[in-house]
Amino acid sequence: MSTALVWFRRDLRLADHPALHAAVASHDRIVALYVHAPGEEGEWAPGAASRWWLHHSLEALDASLRRHGGHLEVLRGDSLEALRATAAACKADALYLNRLYEPRLLKRDARVGRALEADGLAVRSFNASLWSEPGDLLNQQGEPYRVFTPFWRNLRTRIDERAPLPEPATISFDRVDGRLAGRVDIADLALLPDHDWARGFADWTPGERGARDLLDLFADDALGHYAEGRDFPARHGTSRLSPHLRWGEISPVQIHAALRGHRGLEPFLRQLGWREFAQHLLYHFPKTPRENFNPSFDAFRWAARDPHALRRWREGQTGIPIVDAGMRELWATGWMHNRVRMLVASLLTKNLRQHWVLGERWFWDTLVDADLANNALGWQWVAGSGADAAPYFRIFNPVTQSEKFDAEGAYIRRWVPELARAKGRLVHAPWEDPAFLEGSGYPPPIVDLKTSRETALDAYRNLRGAG
Ligand code: FAD
Repeated sequence: MSTALVWFRRDLRLADHPALHAAVASHDRIVALYVHAPGEEGEWAPGAASRWWLHHSLEALDASLRRHGGHLEVLRGDSLEALRATAAACKADALYLNRLYEPRLLKRDARVGRALEADGLAVRSFNASLWSEPGDLLNQQGEPYRVFTPFWRNLRTRIDERAPLPEPATISFDRVDGRLAGRVDIADLALLPDHDWARGFADWTPGERGARDLLDLFADDALGHYAEGRDFPARHGTSRLSPHLRWGEISPVQIHAALRGHRGLEPFLRQLGWREFAQHLLYHFPKTPRENFNPSFDAFRWAARDPHALRRWREGQTGIPIVDAGMRELWATGWMHNRVRMLVASLLTKNLRQHWVLGERWFWDTLVDADLANNALGWQWVAGSGADAAPYFRIFNPVTQSEKFDAEGAYIRRWVPELARAKGRLVHAPWEDPAFLEGSGYPPPIVDLKTSRETALDAYRNLRGAG
């Protein structure tokens, strides 16, 4: 009788799960386990919204395993110790896992793998979350890509290579009898917030089935118009799969296989390509969550940290309607539309000249899809300091953007009820009618958009001059 441990992490699904698939094929029994060790992720341990998601996703995974007659062993503590204790309790021969690419976790996994091999276990790891792993995709000089388009051109030729693996038809489980140090119930992990902030997250269904349902909905309703529809925040024009992808409840391989042949697929695949680009960048340039990707930005003169402005930004009280709508959507639902993410980030880093890391941190805590690679890429892209970033001098004008992408103000009215009765252009720029603004209860703008834009451009010119 041979037993394998299957260590679940950011791959909280049963279908297209290479580690599970291989373990079931090669061993008589498996033990499925999750080890909660946020300390091993350092300052990037999951934020509050991610923890909410994780709680529900672990429950969903446990329920799926129970349908196969087993369950998810949940342990808390040091990963290596937890794996060792479980391996000893069930006399496991092997550990199966899917690979992660974040700098700290790569090191941790290498250390754990070496130690378990020294204990006599076979350790087998797989790619479950990317079309192509970092290191496999380099430019003609053998270096990592720094620009998206050639990266994507190369990656696009490879994404047809693998078909998704099915969920195993049957899984035989080993029982881990007796006491196991660190073993807890999911509820004991205390992942849920202790106040009712997450009430508005109820529209999400974490877990593999929720991911599949969203994918089907997207294929039926939005994919055909994705290229045009993806920029309009009032519409359901995008997939909303980001938190499901973050926790590995669905894989890009599955998504591609399910949507193959659909109209509108290419621009959507390209966005998944950005996700992959972000993972590759983080792998090759591990400091990007904290440091400018483009070092010439190190000399940029950010404004002093402004707690008052930051608070107004976080609370959706900047007086710039499209920005406040986005920040309130984020707080209420744990998610924000991509176009609006760019606008709120632009206001913070350019008009308010607050360092991009301050925005990145807030997103980290409040997004259900908070992802180290995507978040760093997104913030640095908008700030102008990133790989293949928007040039700094392209400063979004939130009013014209709002008029273009939320022309009727439907998105703004939904999240900023103070402006529900605003007529015409006022919904985008309520300060243009001081009497209306006064009566609306909505704040005046935190900055003058025109002069703050000029100041930001001056700071940028100084940087170029200094360089
Ligand atoms: P869709 O349009 O349906 O795209 C499908 C998938 O492609 C997404 O789920 C996502 O995995 C990937 N994707 C799409 N756009 C991007 C992009 N620009 N960069 C990287 N991957 C992309 N995305 C995160 O997943 N986590 C983050 O923490 C995150 N932080 C961001 C911060 C800023 C400042 C900005 C500008 C963008 C950020 N993004 C982040 C990227 C993007 O906004 C979200 O991935 C997208 O809005 C998720 O919605 P969706 O699933 O409906 O996307």
